[in-house]
Amino acid sequence: MELWVTEYQTPNLGFSCRVKATLRNEKTPFQHLAVVETEQFGRMLLLDGMVMTTDVDEYVYHEMITQVALNSHPHPEKVLIIGGGDGGALREVVNHPKVKKGTLVEIDERVIQAARDFFPALACSFDHPKAEVIVDDGVKFVKEHKNTFDVILVDSTEPVGPAVELFSQNFYRDVYEALCDDGMLVVQSESPFYNRDVIKMAFTGIKNVFPVCKLYLASIPTYPSGLWSFTVGSKKYDPEEVSFVYENPQLKYYSPEVHKAVFKLPPFVKKIVEGD
Ligand code: SAM
Repeated sequence: MELWVTEYQTPNLGFSCRVKATLRNEKTPFQHLAVVETEQFGRMLLLDGMVMTTDVDEYVYHEMITQVALNSHPHPEKVLIIGGGDGGALREVVNHPKVKKGTLVEIDERVIQAARDFFPALACSFDHPKAEVIVDDGVKFVKEHKNTFDVILVDSTEPVGPAVELFSQNFYRDVYEALCDDGMLVVQSESPFYNRDVIKMAFTGIKNVFPVCKLYLASIPTYPSGLWSFTVGSKKYDPEEVSFVYENPQLKYYSPEVHKAVFKLPPFVKKIVEGD
């Protein structure tokens, strides 16, 4: 019998992949977690039916949520990742030469375990000497830290369940406090085609708190619509400016040219952030 997995990306649109095998299917205390082996994208992690990452295209998201801040902040020594339990963002962070410590705060330890069991290319970072892995609520963790991090990355699920707070203005204020005087925040802010409200909510919330607020885009085939957005809040530095050229031949999507280009927004995206 043929097996397919479908993510319902909108009430009227499904994204389906043929499945070779189901590797994990469980209800964690926070969400439904599945790992499937697909023909097209290799292994795929789904949380509450939504694709989080796949073997084949994970590099785009993980490079782009990390490298833009890591290469525009001049000294990203202490970096905090909220969410990101698959380990992909942590891998990029700890491999960056300027980073001294990468702290990951993931609420659901079963996500970390699934990465260890099925995604070795992502989980390779958990035991890195620069890495610290904490199982806790990122909202609570950020409240408990003041003036501590150079860069904070919010690698969260969609604004449902435990991630709702991660898109609130109160959370962005706490992030501002947890950052050093010249700190920088990056959040994943969903698709400009399907999630205009999420982008508006994240962008407005961050703009109300940080003096510099900018949006950039990346093309991710397994995410809804294939076009994804990230929003930066910065206390001091302009995230469009590359301050450090990271010569890493392993990077497949990020480059200094791409860094500059991704801030050039199509008019329909500009309208979302500038208000229409
Ligand atoms: N790349 C993905 C995407 O955009 O679809 C997101 C990666 S997924 C690993 C995000 C992680 O955020 C999940 O493992 C989830 O458990 C975690 N998360 C959600 N709310 C959280 C919270 N309040 N604190 C810490 N982690 C949280």
